[in-house]
Amino acid sequence: MTPYISIVVPVYNEEGNLDNLMQRLYPALTGMGRPFEIIFTDDGSRDRSLEILKRLANDYPEVRVIEFNGNFGQHMAIMAAFEISRGDIVVTLDADLQNPPEEIPKLVAEMENGHDVVGTIRHNRQDSIFRKSASRLVNITTRKMTGMKMTDYGCMLRAYHRNVVDNINRCGEASTFIPALAQTFASSPSEIEVAHAERSEGESKYSFYKLIRLNFDLMTGFSVVPLQLFALTGIVTSLGAVAFALFLLVRRFLVGAEVEGVFTLFAILFFFIGITIFGIGIVGEYVGRIYQEVRRRPRFVVRRIYGGSDEG
Ligand code: UDP
Ligand code: MG
Repeated sequence: MTPYISIVVPVYNEEGNLDNLMQRLYPALTGMGRPFEIIFTDDGSRDRSLEILKRLANDYPEVRVIEFNGNFGQHMAIMAAFEISRGDIVVTLDADLQNPPEEIPKLVAEMENGHDVVGTIRHNRQDSIFRKSASRLVNITTRKMTGMKMTDYGCMLRAYHRNVVDNINRCGEASTFIPALAQTFASSPSEIEVAHAERSEGESKYSFYKLIRLNFDLMTGFSVVPLQLFALTGIVTSLGAVAFALFLLVRRFLVGAEVEGVFTLFAILFFFIGITIFGIGIVGEYVGRIYQEVRRRPRFVVRRIYGGSDEG
């Protein structure tokens, strides 16, 4: 029987969460009375996660497990699962129980109201102050820069219609941000509020550096506003420089030659050099991404798939 709902869960070193997750996810899904499948992607975990997932694939006919050849990141893990998903409605979910599985029926109900992407807003978000304020900043700048209307980019508990998933699969982007990519294909997106819990076991898999990389993916992957802003800054600074030169010229005739103030000039110069390097960095970020895309290397490598029809 083809599933109506596909649940997609990326897993990276989550040995302490998987059994609890399954114990809550499974009843939540059977309670809906529709055929479903659960696809876990093991994103190169170095703990017992894969072992536990293989057992789950054995015990539950609805479970399939994709084993990655290494750590390709949360978004690639979801992409790989999208490619083999079959449901009309595809729901993504974190493995750490921060998104309660009991909220899935609400998402499905909202999809059945005719929406093709249903996002979520984390009610009473349980993360550190630092993470929350960083997210707020990212959410605001992303909304401004991409023009997409989404309240909470970070929450991965989301539902996508088959058409949207098929379009995402056709993209084949190597570095991407799935909620934003889906938003570009959505014709009738919607958002609902869901509960949010603290991570139940283990630590966040996102270091500060990984978070910055992810946000670069979001900024440069969906907008060229950074480049345009930089061009504008260039124009404004050159106009400022012309005005300053005129001022110095006039001053020379009125007051006489300038001798002091060399260090002020140095300060100003360093400021502009800083801006220039920053700009080269932005351009480099785009060039790097173009290079990555044109090489057309595989985005991720699947070692094996367990469960379902691919039983081996
Ligand atoms: N994850 C992954 N690969 C990675 C990093 C994370 O598959 O390289 C998974 C992780 O196991 C979890 C989800 O992505 O299911 C979200 O990660 P995490 O909870 O660490 O992120 P946070 O909630 O701190 O944003
Ligand atoms: Mg989490």
